[in-house]
Amino acid sequence: MRTLVVDHPLVTHKLTALRDVASDTATFRSLTDELVTLLAYEATREMRVQPVAVTTPVAEARGVKLAPPVPLIVPVLRAGIGMLDGMTRLLPMADVGFVGLRRDEESLVASTYADRLPADLADRDTFVLDPMLATGGTLATVISMLAARGAASVTAICLLAAPEGVRHVEETFAGDEPWVRVVTAAVDERLNERGYIVPGLGDAGDRLFGRI
Ligand code: URA
Repeated sequence: MRTLVVDHPLVTHKLTALRDVASDTATFRSLTDELVTLLAYEATREMRVQPVAVTTPVAEARGVKLAPPVPLIVPVLRAGIGMLDGMTRLLPMADVGFVGLRRDEESLVASTYADRLPADLADRDTFVLDPMLATGGTLATVISMLAARGAASVTAICLLAAPEGVRHVEETFAGDEPWVRVVTAAVDERLNERGYIVPGLGDAGDRLFGRI
């Protein structure tokens, strides 16, 4: 398992604005969308391609296209939905599956309430969208679900991560197949006693969709 912290001025600039408590819902949504596209650019760097020939208006040229099968994008309900447009902008051909996990506020343990994933993921690259890698319990569960269906690789795209969550996922999938990777804009200081990332950005779901 590998962790990539994307070190880029635009990423840090947008993340800083995203953290700002003064950013309203509309601003938060559009910043999330832009940030995900920037992270997705790095997250897709190692996708497999195959050679193709193309005819330009001038001559024949050689190029590549993404190798089949099409990738699968998995937003984790509910906050991951806010990341979907930013991801499909770069991978418009991808299939989209959904997973919902509920976190017990006391134990912080996650349980599955929605599972809409293909039964067979053999050979497929998968991209999990979850804005906050906090304890790592949710992400480890989703990665295990994809691994059990035979995914060739699992890349989690998280806006922010806590060191505790990164450690948990690293320990759970140390040296494991399928190939597991976390791509994030920053690893913050710590989790607080309520499981929030510090300094973080608050509750990503509430900031994207309101406190309902
Ligand atoms: N989920 C959130 O939305 N925010 C955190 O800080 C941690 C988990």
